[in-house]
Amino acid sequence: MESIKNLFNLKGKVVIITGSSKGIGEAIARGLAEHGAHVVISSRKQEAVDEVVDQFKAAGLEAIGIACHVGKADQRTNLVNETINRFGGVDILINNAAINPIYGPIEEAEEAAFDKIMDVNLKAPWILSNLVLPSMKERGGGSVINISSVEGLKPGLGLGLYSTSKAALIMLTQNQAKEWGQYNIRSNAICPGLVKTKFSATIWQNEPLMNSIKKNLLSSRLGTTDEMAGLALLLASDAGAYMTGGVYTNDGGYMLG
Ligand code: NAP
Repeated sequence: MESIKNLFNLKGKVVIITGSSKGIGEAIARGLAEHGAHVVISSRKQEAVDEVVDQFKAAGLEAIGIACHVGKADQRTNLVNETINRFGGVDILINNAAINPIYGPIEEAEEAAFDKIMDVNLKAPWILSNLVLPSMKERGGGSVINISSVEGLKPGLGLGLYSTSKAALIMLTQNQAKEWGQYNIRSNAICPGLVKTKFSATIWQNEPLMNSIKKNLLSSRLGTTDEMAGLALLLASDAGAYMTGGVYTNDGGYMLG
């Protein structure tokens, strides 16, 4: 009988994680690398990527860095091709990079902002997933993990277009699961709640806003980036082999607030 512990083993598995030079992406990358995965650290800035790779290597983890602005077609293609050149294929793709350049009423947003949000948060995960599909098929399966948000399930205030992009990402996930199940490729969405990163700084640095959020938050605190890694590990590994098309919150009870 196989040990259940072994099901979490990612030894030799190749993982691309977009937006992994800091925040949630970096924590997930570290968690997966600590379980044996070969991780590709990626973000817009090569220096930021190199810094994380150096730290990982110093800790004995297997990582390479490939800069990629996920909104740029040539950089997306390079990310996938270069990963295949260096590691021989792709087993796990984590679409984590996202942006939210605007706060405020939806009717006041510029059309250009809409396009930018959808390009990075929705179109990039769609295209990157399509790009890794042939390699996953060739390897007999794979796991796509799309980092959505509780905002994709329940609208907050002032995040309308971001929220809309994250809701669409959930539906993309479910369609990927439906179409690619036949290739043993799973696709799942993670919906973090409020996690303390640079991305959410405008919220957690606003004390009155935080106090009102905390009142409805069962955990009464923000999440940490490390607390996002365990669910990603489960979905990436054979421990989650029966999980596909799922939408999983990791939110300190935010959705019940
Ligand atoms: P973060 O700490 O600000 O990190 C964002 C990462 O993405 C960085 O590595 C950044 O590096 C990279 N990045 C930004 N724009 C990019 C682009 N166009 N192409 C490629 N990489 C890009 O953010 P985070 O809070 O960890 O957020 C990660 C994910 O979690 C996002 O999908 C976000 O929507 C989701 N999420 C976050 C929260 C939260 O409260 N923090 C809640 C729900 C969902 P460079 O600057 O070097 O490019």
